[in-house]
Amino acid sequence: MIDFKMLIGGDERIAAGEGWIDSVNPFTGKVWARVPRGQERDAIAAVEAAAAAMENPAWANITASQRGALLRKVGDLILDNAERLADLEVQDNGKLKAEMLGQLRYLPQHYYYYGGLADKIEGAVIPSDKAGMFTHTVYEPLGVVVAITPWNSPLLLTTWKLAPALAAGNAVVIKPSEHASVSMIEFAKLFLAAGFPPGVVNVVTGYGNECGAALVEHPKVAKIAFTGGDAGGKAVYQAAAKTLKHVTLELGGKSPNIVCEDADISQAVKGAVSGIFAATGQTCMAGSRLLVHEARHDEFVAALRAFVANAKMGDPMALDTQIGPVATLPQYEKVLDYVAIATAEGATLAHGGKPYRGSGCENGWFVEPTILTDVTNSMRVAREEIFGPVLSIIRFKDDDEAIAIANDTPYGLAAGVWTNDLTRAFRYTKALKAGTVWVNAYRVVSYAVPFGGFKQSGIGRENGQEMIKEYLQTKSVYINLEKDVPNPFVLR
Ligand code: NAD
Repeated sequence: MIDFKMLIGGDERIAAGEGWIDSVNPFTGKVWARVPRGQERDAIAAVEAAAAAMENPAWANITASQRGALLRKVGDLILDNAERLADLEVQDNGKLKAEMLGQLRYLPQHYYYYGGLADKIEGAVIPSDKAGMFTHTVYEPLGVVVAITPWNSPLLLTTWKLAPALAAGNAVVIKPSEHASVSMIEFAKLFLAAGFPPGVVNVVTGYGNECGAALVEHPKVAKIAFTGGDAGGKAVYQAAAKTLKHVTLELGGKSPNIVCEDADISQAVKGAVSGIFAATGQTCMAGSRLLVHEARHDEFVAALRAFVANAKMGDPMALDTQIGPVATLPQYEKVLDYVAIATAEGATLAHGGKPYRGSGCENGWFVEPTILTDVTNSMRVAREEIFGPVLSIIRFKDDDEAIAIANDTPYGLAAGVWTNDLTRAFRYTKALKAGTVWVNAYRVVSYAVPFGGFKQSGIGRENGQEMIKEYLQTKSVYINLEKDVPNPFVLR
């Protein structure tokens, strides 16, 4: 078993109370590593280290171009360490190495992109109506940013926050998930190696209600960038209100993936699979509600079952494995509970629904890819995020009905539409209330394209140029060019 330590102010540390959290490998069911169980004192130390870094001339006074160069250097170091970091992620969260390695190799692009953007954040000289005033704006960093992240794609989802936050000149404290902290600890060391001053990037490990809550409450923290579930997101939003922090939230979803009457079924089947069985359904943008036109329903379900029956389940480290285990034991139990809830409410179990105990998978938390048909949108499986390999199929008779069902959810993270009719595609992209809409595609994201939720799927966006402003504040400067100050009792 390996012990990993937190990174605070450039130093590796165990927790103040000397407690530890075991990391269990979801494939073997065995503890393979431990991370410190950070306490309030550790959270305070990390915020103080970040606040000190904001005052350190080595960070506060470097030029935006130099910040960009540091970020690009980190991108190079990630590439050198991609395989090692991907292996750590797979042992921590049980996701496929093929996916985690793909993410790691893509990660540098985020640092190159925001590294390039760092010195292109330009204020304006404003030709204001105030005669005799030279008026301009500058963008300044917020200060200490706390990034709180989930276990499903630790380094990718942290990067969505870290790269723009650093490009904007902030200092960051990262609180990774208690279920998957190891890769983050090793990742953070690359920032020191690249030349970022100590304290600019810190990692505190521990539970959300312990060190996580202490970070959110700390008065020196200017912003919380949170990715996780509804309950945690709402708790963070409320706690952050006490000290009026900036908050962005990337939460869950119950995203519709819609197969229209004219769709190419063989492609739509692949879209359904990438929406719900890739990543074992453990993705915020899971296409967990599959809406199929009634005229194509039976044909579609038969093709999907045939495709899924051939999916290879097994060791997530093997590059040809297609479906791995669920990440935690409670999550495994929750997924199986939802299958029972669905059938009790009248859904038909068309495929899977049981633990998978195939060769080599006896000790892992495997659930068969599960297809439920005869689902209605009022059933719990259609309304609640399951975060597992469970697909609910709902029939519809025309586009109006599909749009109404798709939008009848408190969430609004993403949606997919499968059609070869351009007019229909445009109609859906306009009508669907979701932050991202894919046409004849699913689960595509880019560092250059904003991502985030409508409704209760979140607040704010990540990725793209515009969102760097989420980590900046505008300062307006008036310089009086005239000697005389007119009537001081009247607003000018
Ligand atoms: P979670 O909400 O349980 O935990 C996320 C993080 O928040 C963890 O680090 C946790 O320790 C911390 N946390 C929880 N309560 C907290 C509190 N009160 N104060 C401070 N920190 C707190 O989520 P999870 O189970 O790790 O991840 C799965 C969820 O994340 C799913 O709902 C999924 O949809 C969502 N998610 C969203 C996106 C997105 O971009 N929208 C991406 C991935 C995952």
